[in-house]
Amino acid sequence: MCKFYGAKLIIFFILAQKYIHITMNLSDYLKFDSMKTYGMRLRMVQELKEHMAHERFAYNIKAIEIMQFLPRHLFLNENGLERWVYMLNSVNIDEYQTMSHPSTVLKQTTLLDVSSQDRVLEIGTGSGYQAAVLSHLAKEVYTLERHYNLYFKSRDLFKQLQINNVFSFYGDGFEGLPQFQYFDKIIVTCGAPNLPQSLFDQLKIGGIMVIPIDKENEGQCMYKITKISQTELTYKAYGNFAFVPMLQGVEKSDVYFNSNKNNIT
Ligand code: SAH
Repeated sequence: MCKFYGAKLIIFFILAQKYIHITMNLSDYLKFDSMKTYGMRLRMVQELKEHMAHERFAYNIKAIEIMQFLPRHLFLNENGLERWVYMLNSVNIDEYQTMSHPSTVLKQTTLLDVSSQDRVLEIGTGSGYQAAVLSHLAKEVYTLERHYNLYFKSRDLFKQLQINNVFSFYGDGFEGLPQFQYFDKIIVTCGAPNLPQSLFDQLKIGGIMVIPIDKENEGQCMYKITKISQTELTYKAYGNFAFVPMLQGVEKSDVYFNSNKNNIT
């Protein structure tokens, strides 16, 4: 009898590993910290809470808890910039791109309204920080980046952090990932010239897209779009933001592309 239950338990765990993506507990991230980085992050989170209260923005409590544990400094490739990465700032990463400001990450995550069964598509992996935050809220995160170098580094970092429900892709966000449609949620983390039709098509009916769209000569405005039918949507605007632009096509980033050609998945 006992043996029978034992065998059942083993089969359960084998199946669970195959079908359930087990991500680290938040407290497991502490092993990547020094007292200094942990202290700086606690202070950043405190300042972030004050900032959001000042803006009267009702943020997602779970998202800020994730940000409290996630080692944001690892998403930078240069040591010594910890002080910057834990300030309320956007930070430069490779390829003249940026890791979003903590308040932008928190706002976009909140607006996306992610639930634990959601399949999310992110356009603009960049450092991978936003995707890592989402990995603890969603079932799966598909993230797409047009710079090979950034795609490759962030994919490596997800592995190192044992974040195994984020799937990285190198390609053009204007095309999205039709082979994995439909997505419950889509988040765009670069400034789009307009609402890309292909992304709207890949969103489920009832799904939500959070996207900054260029306004003529006025920076970008954040929109939360809800798809109500194949051709209809409702939207709400959430103020001005400053993102790097969403650009057409892909960049090969020669150094990484040549040395790691065989690793493209
Ligand atoms: N979510 C990122 C923010 C990175 S900045 C983070 O947390 O760090 C925006 C990113 O969008 C840049 O890395 C840029 O290369 C990428 N990007 C711009 N246009 C794109 C496109 N058409 N397809 C995919 N990625 C794009």
